[in-house]
Amino acid sequence: RIDIDDVTKRFGDGEDGIVAVDDISLYIDDGEFVVFVGPSGSGKSTLLRTVAGLEDQTEGDVVIGDTIVNELGPRARNIAMVFQNYALYPNMTVEENMAFGLKMSTDMLETEIEKRVHETAETMGIEKLLHSTPGEMSGGQQQRVALGRAIVRDPNVFLMDEPLSNLDAKLRTEMRTEINRLQNDLSVTTLYVTHDQTEAMTMGDRLVVLNHGELQQVGTPLECFYRPSNRFVAGFLGSPS
Ligand code: ATP
Ligand code: MG
Repeated sequence: RIDIDDVTKRFGDGEDGIVAVDDISLYIDDGEFVVFVGPSGSGKSTLLRTVAGLEDQTEGDVVIGDTIVNELGPRARNIAMVFQNYALYPNMTVEENMAFGLKMSTDMLETEIEKRVHETAETMGIEKLLHSTPGEMSGGQQQRVALGRAIVRDPNVFLMDEPLSNLDAKLRTEMRTEINRLQNDLSVTTLYVTHDQTEAMTMGDRLVVLNHGELQQVGTPLECFYRPSNRFVAGFLGSPS
């Protein structure tokens, strides 16, 4: 489980300061898939980065499992992240890209790493690409590799920040299904940010709507859509009036 407990993130001080995340509390169950939506600047990425340990919250606690992880860095949190720009290492092969994180974050033996990378590549259907470099692959293939690199570490938590926004419509649909399948198979707790209405309505167990860093509504996608808790949510989701 993940417990986001009264978390506030402020950038800068005083008058010029920005409250990017404003006193958000949210409990996410093991294996749950939670989708975050909201306008640009509403704090989605900042909230995810705080959970990941890439930002220190100004106030509040982040609890993962039974541990308050406030003081822990990203590696110690065993969280896998996939972002919009997949940020694969361009000079490394797929195999090296996938092995790299394991080498840095575990003390697994070389042979174990190799085995895990190959197993994961099979799961992701990218075993034929293991010796290619990112420049030789399509956007969809790169995205698949980025996912593979994320799951090879067997993370407790998946954080995805608009992972599909660079893909064309057809690939996006395909990868959507793929991510849901993976998430389901691995039953890994997932926080997923998107601007895409279809993704918001179809992918997650629950939807979280943010505006100006504040939590507007949490509920199943259908609840949020048909029973928006305020005008903002109704307008943002295009709820029938
Ligand atoms: P988008 O949909 O455009 O990705 P978002 O919902 O992810 O937006 P954030 O990136 O979390 O929004 O930004 C929330 C607010 O915090 C914005 O006002 C942004 O300008 C501010 N912000 C984010 N990162 C920083 C930073 N490193 N320094 C200062 N302000 C920041
Ligand atoms: Mg963002």
